[in-house]
Amino acid sequence: MADDCLFCKIVERAVPSDIVYEDDTLLAFNDISPQAPTHVLIIPKTHIATVNDLTDSEAELIGKMALCGQSLACARGIDEGGYRLILNCNALGGQTVFHVHLHLLGGRQLRGLG
Ligand code: 5GP
Ligand code: ZN
Repeated sequence: MADDCLFCKIVERAVPSDIVYEDDTLLAFNDISPQAPTHVLIIPKTHIATVNDLTDSEAELIGKMALCGQSLACARGIDEGGYRLILNCNALGGQTVFHVHLHLLGGRQLRGLG
């Protein structure tokens, strides 16, 4: 855990969140400022600051994050209509919390990125 990391504090329950899924390696919770009817953040429990910090040893972890997004989308019935999974990296990528997180967005028509 990184002492000054908001999402590590959410993992530790030091900061409250609306958790929708948890297992040994992942936590998923609703975004505090949802941009769509479904806006879930899927994070590894271990602290990894950005996508740039990922290595081959995290390949399975990232795969599990994507499958978690798929599973949540199916459970909410938005899988057939469609949804979006996003990983933002660093400032120009729009990253504001420096603990890797996968956004699951869905439940409305999503338009272009940018
Ligand atoms: P980023 O811009 O880094 O890709 O996404 C960070 C996300 O974290 C944003 O969508 C923002 O709304 C969300 N967020 C920031 N602070 C909190 C918080 O305290 N709790 C929750 N649940 N989400 C947060
Ligand atoms: Zn962290």
